[in-house]
Amino acid sequence: MNKTISKIAVLTSGGDSPGMNAAIRSVVRSCAYHRIDCVGIFRGYQGMIEGDFKEMNARSVNHIINKGGTILKSARSKDFMTKEGRLKAFYQLKNHNVDAFVVIGGDGSFTGAMVFNKEFDFPIIGIPGTIDNDIYGTNFTLGYDTALNTAVEAIDKIRDTASSHNRLFFVEVMGRDVGHIALNVGVGAGAEEILIPEEDLGLDRLLDSLKKSRKSGKTSSIVVVAEGDKTGDNVFELAKYIEEHMPTYEVRVSVLGHMQRGGSPSCFDRVLASRMGVKAIETLLDGKSNYMIGIKDNKMILTPLDMAIKGETEIDAELIQVSDIMTT
Ligand code: ATP
Repeated sequence: MNKTISKIAVLTSGGDSPGMNAAIRSVVRSCAYHRIDCVGIFRGYQGMIEGDFKEMNARSVNHIINKGGTILKSARSKDFMTKEGRLKAFYQLKNHNVDAFVVIGGDGSFTGAMVFNKEFDFPIIGIPGTIDNDIYGTNFTLGYDTALNTAVEAIDKIRDTASSHNRLFFVEVMGRDVGHIALNVGVGAGAEEILIPEEDLGLDRLLDSLKKSRKSGKTSSIVVVAEGDKTGDNVFELAKYIEEHMPTYEVRVSVLGHMQRGGSPSCFDRVLASRMGVKAIETLLDGKSNYMIGIKDNKMILTPLDMAIKGETEIDAELIQVSDIMTT
């Protein structure tokens, strides 16, 4: 292993996701294991610019593996989008004798990392932390599994009230550009319909399907809608349309929103975070830079950051078929 790296920084950037703390813990403890100094940067790239750094050792990350959010806080930084801001960040890193950093975040954070690497030839590794699971080069991003479980649990509760009052519920889940959360949560919660951005079924098809399921004896229904679904203008318009055309149903809308981002990470996310942190430090010590750590076929893999940013994830066609069969 290349030992020219003697101090590594870790930061969380962009939207928070469950499992970020477990990843911070893993990075810090991997540094301690390899006898490398570690520093935490607070508030993402903004904290990097402002020098909001704190030395960390194995004991600094006690009892955080089970905590949601991020102890290092997260931020979006306009200053880091400017050359001047990034230069300040570079001087801060140099002043603190930092030789490399690990950024835990989404594709925006990786884009910033790549720009920074190009300008200053600074070694960087990315760990994908976002609940949307929309990053190319990994089967799972940190927080996705927890978000699925949180949403399924919420929908189970909504179903209790839906069936008690013979109601039709539209439940909006996160996913502005991709339907991974909606599709998995919909199948997991036994939804009657799942609406995702990748497929525009059209209002008439939706109405038809809901009428059929009503005729077949269903007295309540759950429709899971991804934030970015294009079937209607938004979930409230969808609900209005169905209520107008199916007056027999009382229609309600529930937007799960930010609750999907919070909470204690699932065991899967904790283990994934621990593995990704270890791999991130090993990769830097191997002298590699500009990679994102991912998991495929239960193996840790590396994807160049530019591919991770540009590549697109595909919706699971087999799961769409499963969902079609389950909603018969
Ligand atoms: P999420 O998936 O939650 O949106 P993200 O990492 O994609 O997470 P962004 O807000 O897109 O979140 O990006 C985080 C930060 O990365 C930005 O606030 C900015 O500081 C930095 N960043 C993003 N794009 C660039 C860029 N082109 N140049 C420099 N910095 C950038």
